[in-house]
Amino acid sequence: MSVSRTKHQEQHRTAVAGLPGKARPAVTVVDTVQRMKQVRRGLVGPVGLVPTMGYLHEGHLSLVRRAREENATVVVSIFVNPTQFGPCEDFAGYPRDTRRDLAMLEEADTDVVFMPSADEMYPPQSSTWVEVTRLTERLEGAARPTHFRGVTTVVAKLFNIVQPDRAYFGQKDAQQATVIRRMVADLNMNLEVVVCPTVREPDGLAMSSRNTYLTPEQRQAAVVLYQSLKLAGQLWDNGERDAARIRREMKLLIEQLLIERRPIDQQALGEIDYISVADPETLEELDTIASAALVSLVVRFGRTRLLDNVVLRLDRHR
Ligand code: AMP
Repeated sequence: MSVSRTKHQEQHRTAVAGLPGKARPAVTVVDTVQRMKQVRRGLVGPVGLVPTMGYLHEGHLSLVRRAREENATVVVSIFVNPTQFGPCEDFAGYPRDTRRDLAMLEEADTDVVFMPSADEMYPPQSSTWVEVTRLTERLEGAARPTHFRGVTTVVAKLFNIVQPDRAYFGQKDAQQATVIRRMVADLNMNLEVVVCPTVREPDGLAMSSRNTYLTPEQRQAAVVLYQSLKLAGQLWDNGERDAARIRREMKLLIEQLLIERRPIDQQALGEIDYISVADPETLEELDTIASAALVSLVVRFGRTRLLDNVVLRLDRHR
């Protein structure tokens, strides 16, 4: 552990517990913008923010732990943001379990949980969007046209309210992380964006709050995403640089695995939405991979879209 981390943790303990050795108080839960701004004024920096939509799992907790290591104070937001869901998407049915989330965050040594209502974040008179262009027209943006406008607007608002020194996001949502980095650079926001590795189930499926939507058969079949990404990695390690060939091999593998696993006399359990081999910065599709590529895909299982990715680069095993 670095000296600065130790120092931050010490500062944190002193800040939240008053006296060293004393039991730390329960996590502070805040549900209004005004109160969050007031609480923020009393927080010891650096402050790390982990934005989430709740229904937490190990993926979220890995971000909280990283924030804990690197900051004196950790703020986690829980907000199922209506503006990032399309009209036919799962906003109303998105899984929620606040009591469990708070217990997990307390266990992970979180200082403040900010969990505003939708009316608190979007009063009736709100009329402002924060929009990143170009990067958001591809991949998830092409499939979900208003999604990123909702994400960047709510994340910009959270940054203004919480004023973190660092904000933590998952590589699982690679395009989201790229879009947020762009927003922070373009709007000269005063914070560091930290992107943390994807946390997976033992069989390789990326953890996601939406995995709970899957039937047991779909859950088993969902491992095809990880298997196809592993194949992309093997092809890359063996010297393959032709992006079309990588996409084609991934598609063949997924189709074959989904057909093998389909219940007798039934349709395949899942369907490929897209497979992309793109430049990690611009997200433009590549013909030939020179030095790095973001390989990402979505497979639909019923109404559930599962998303995953891997970055191929020359030093990826280092
Ligand atoms: P969500 O609650 O789905 O909006 O996710 C909140 C944050 O957790 C986002 O930055 C996600 O990218 C990140 N996240 C979600 N799943 C994972 C995972 N399996 N591993 C790492 N980070 C994740």
